[in-house]
Amino acid sequence: MEKPTNKPLLIPSMYCNVFGHDYQISKKVTYHVKEYTCSRCKRQLTTNSNGHLIELTPKFKEINAILERIHQSRTARLKKKTLISSI
Ligand SMILES: [Zn+2]
Repeated sequence: MEKPTNKPLLIPSMYCNVFGHDYQISKKVTYHVKEYTCSRCKRQLTTNSNGHLIELTPKFKEINAILERIHQSRTARLKKKTLISSI
């Protein structure tokens, strides 16, 4: 009697526990703060103000959204400035 073959995939988070996460940058918030997503289990991390990687909780998502807005308006202003000075 033939046994059914192995299940096609391990639970991704189990795989990650054994082999480690495969984090990819999913978003650049500022020059220093980025968001990472594991390509297997979709776990998300972010860089905190100390430069450490921490779990991306809804609270940090909110903080990052604010940081991103500040960063974008700052870089937009910088771009304008360099444009003016280059004329
Ligand atoms: Zn993972």
